[in-house]
Amino acid sequence: MLTTRVFVTVLLISIFSTISPPGVAATGDDTIKLTFLGTGAPRPSHTRYGPSILLEAGEHRILVDAGPGMRERLFQAGGFELLTDIDHVLLTHLHFDHTISVPGLWLTGWLYGRKTPMTVYGPTGTAAMMKHFRAAYDWDIRYREIVGVHKEGSDLIAHDVSPGVVFDKDGLKVTAFNVEHMPINVETGELLGLEGATIGYRIDYKGRSVLFSGDTRSTPSTRIIEHGKGVDVLIHEVQVPAPGDTPEARLANVSLSVHSTPAQVAYVFEKTRPRMGVYSHIIPPEISSDELLGATDYDGEMMVAEDLMTLTIGDEITVGRAERAGTDIFTEADVVDK
Ligand SMILES: [Zn+2]
Repeated sequence: MLTTRVFVTVLLISIFSTISPPGVAATGDDTIKLTFLGTGAPRPSHTRYGPSILLEAGEHRILVDAGPGMRERLFQAGGFELLTDIDHVLLTHLHFDHTISVPGLWLTGWLYGRKTPMTVYGPTGTAAMMKHFRAAYDWDIRYREIVGVHKEGSDLIAHDVSPGVVFDKDGLKVTAFNVEHMPINVETGELLGLEGATIGYRIDYKGRSVLFSGDTRSTPSTRIIEHGKGVDVLIHEVQVPAPGDTPEARLANVSLSVHSTPAQVAYVFEKTRPRMGVYSHIIPPEISSDELLGATDYDGEMMVAEDLMTLTIGDEITVGRAERAGTDIFTEADVVDK
């Protein structure tokens, strides 16, 4: 891990003229700030938690995916204020490594002071999943309200979205598009007929832009190319095939047909030429940055994200670290009904 950190630091110093010190929030009216809460995948990892990225722009705080550990990383990044102040959650698809922390954030945020419902957007099936979460925790909510916890903000609102503009408000526009993560016959390439969809998002704010690939294999016709051309930051998933024939390798390689290799991502970066290409949702989570970058034949600027890394996108793209930026002292006065 030390090697990875040293490599990333050296790489960044060579790329950026300014580096944000830890704890400095995004500033400026037209910047987008990203906080990588989790950069891993389903496999448990001590260093890369499940996929989840916070985007802050103007007054908006939007979470893209809600993987394992997201609640704890959010608390590390911004204390109770962040936990209780997420406007929207965007889900790329309904795998557990992208959704399992939705109930944790929804209920913790409410318990510690959020007075408005949490709103979740995602592909077909999202509204049904949220309805099940709401039903699963009905007893918990009624229990806490009976003993005096405030009664506002415990609702969970959900919208199934189709490709197109999801919302456009205060200069912030979220666009969803289909990506290719549905199971296929590896021999023929034909879809196996599972219902549902998997999506990626592009977020635009005052001339700045970020694209989230979601989970996806890469094909020359991927919609990421049309939506990602000239984007400021393109965040792409990546999977390096596991060598050997161990149970671990066999399990990991089952998913190769629905993820992207470094060579495939290099093609997407080449076709889109973002100001910065970023790897996140990294399979396997313990692979080194050196190995990932070494396997990616791309001459543009790119980097490997780490948990709690921040990127602030302005005239320059600067990197920082969110750890210990927030407070864990609880001061919200209005959380118990009289
Ligand atoms: Zn995933």
